[in-house]
Amino acid sequence: MPAKGYVEIDIEQCKGCNLCVLHCPTDCLALNTSEANSYGLHFAYLVDEEECIGCANCGVICPEGAITVFRKRKDAAGGGAAAQGQEI
Ligand code: SF4
Ligand code: SF4
Repeated sequence: MPAKGYVEIDIEQCKGCNLCVLHCPTDCLALNTSEANSYGLHFAYLVDEEECIGCANCGVICPEGAITVFRKRKDAAGGGAAAQGQEI
């Protein structure tokens, strides 16, 4: 059963170092080059929610602790406890 994930990025904590982007195995993160946080830094964001597998690489590698990873399973039957998000 394939894993499905989601990440929340605290844009004020993000320093735009790009580490999470480089370490995402599915290339679903990017730096927002058109917007900046209050420090004037380009921040990372989730480009394609469907591609996130919840591997947590980004959350582990982020030196600022700016990323929270949620993981759930893609349940073919839908609904139920298996589809509930789990913060890791
Ligand atoms: S949890 Fe994994 S797949 Fe999802 S954005 Fe982070 S590094 Fe990419
Ligand atoms: S690793 Fe953390 S600080 Fe660096 S770009 Fe990603 S979210 Fe921002």
